[in-house]
Parts: sequence; C-alpha cells; structure tokens
Amino acid sequence: MRMPLIAGNWKMNGSLTLIEQFGEAFAAAELSSSVEVALLPPFPYLPAAQAALGATPVVLGAQTLNPAHSGAHTGEVSGRMLKEFGVEYALVGHSERRQLYREADEAVYDRLLAALSADIRPILCVGETLEERDAGRTRDVVLRQVGHVMARLDPQQRTRVTIAYEPVWAIGSGRTATPEQAQEVLAAIREYQAGFDRELAAGLRLLYGGSMNAGNAAELLSQPDIDGGLVGGASLKVDDFIAICQSA
Ligand code: PGA
Repeated sequence: MRMPLIAGNWKMNGSLTLIEQFGEAFAAAELSSSVEVALLPPFPYLPAAQAALGATPVVLGAQTLNPAHSGAHTGEVSGRMLKEFGVEYALVGHSERRQLYREADEAVYDRLLAALSADIRPILCVGETLEERDAGRTRDVVLRQVGHVMARLDPQQRTRVTIAYEPVWAIGSGRTATPEQAQEVLAAIREYQAGFDRELAAGLRLLYGGSMNAGNAAELLSQPDIDGGLVGGASLKVDDFIAICQSA
C-alpha cells in the first residue's frame, strides 16, 4: 500500500560529470516500478539532472528551500523556483540544517508549508543526538519534532508529507541504527499519527536515514514501518545507490 521511496541526498557534493554518470546508469538499470527513486543534488545541478534523468524513472528533489516565494533574501532559493526545474520533493529539517544553520522547529514548519504551497512534497527529517539517546530521550525528541509540524497541518496537507527518521549519531558516521532501533522509532511516529487519523497513519510513508548502504539496506527496508531510505554518502556511488534502490 505504501510505495517505497529511496532518496539520494548528495549534500554539498557531486559534479556535472557525476550527474551524467547517473543519467547513463539509471537509463540502463533495471528498477522495479514499485519503488520510487529521487535524487537531491545541489541547486546548480538541477537543470543538468533534469536533462540527464528525464528519460529515467528518477525524480528530482531539493535539499532545502526558503519559506518565502520571492523577495529580498540574498542567496536563497524558493519552492516556486525549484518547481520550475521539476523538483517534486524537498527535505526540511535535515539535522545539518538544524545544527549548522540553526533551523529550529518553527523554521522547519515554515519551510514545510512553503514546499506544500509550491506543490512540492516535503520530507520532514527528525532524529535525536547521541546525548539525547543516551539520556533516554529519543522518543520525546523525535515526537516533539514531528508534532511541532504535523499537529498543525490539516488532513489534506498531512497526506503529502513523508517523514525521515535520521538519528544524528548515524549520519555520515558509518554507525547505522540497528533495524530494531529504527523500527522502534518509526513505529512510534506512526502510532503518534494514528492519534490524529488511523487511515492516514497507515498510509504515511516513513524513511530511515543514517549510513544506509548497499550492504545494510535490505535488512533495514524489511522492517514493517520502514518504507524507504534517505541515503547520503552511498548515494554518491551510482552502483551502490542503484543496489539500494533494487533492494527496496
Ligand atoms: P549518510 O547521510 O547516509 O551519509 O549517513 C544521510 C543523510 O544525512 O541524509
């Protein structure tokens, strides 16, 4: 019932050459039509990615967006602009944005609304730090981040949101959460959503992110509440990324 999504978050990495490689490899790859694949390159690569991946099933996503549609925001990019380049998904609340660019829950909410109003599907990223996990606060922290946004949306808006659980300690560290750890938190997120609407919770797409790779993806993706992955490092190697897509 829930279509798996594998989203490749290139962060501030990649090149035009890599975009070309991805275009060729995905054109030749055998992908099941029951998995959705999104590539999220840095903004300047979007037009090249649109051209290179146009004949493949891969859709485009953005790593962030500004809450405003246009105006005096030097250096920023709006959802409306991203939409012109075929962007279908946008990350909001990635832990690197929360930590390095001080985007707190309210800023995340504003960006998520901006995505929805530009007809872009937001991927809301949540996750605890190691300190928070060690203090037994994982559930509280994650449900606060989810609730701050989801509790304020109407049912129609909620159906457009995907949530990615990315423990901060697992991102780029090579230390993946165990399938059981990831499943436990994602099940708690779904249960929280069921408090609003059971049917909507059953259809809510939930991703795991944090050192997912070609070797551990299948086991993670076999968990009942893991409907896909948000992949950083391993999405920069085309063979690994395709292998992850094929294991979904
Ligand atoms: P990683 O990054 O796969 O390199 O851990 C995931 C992410 O930050 O989205």
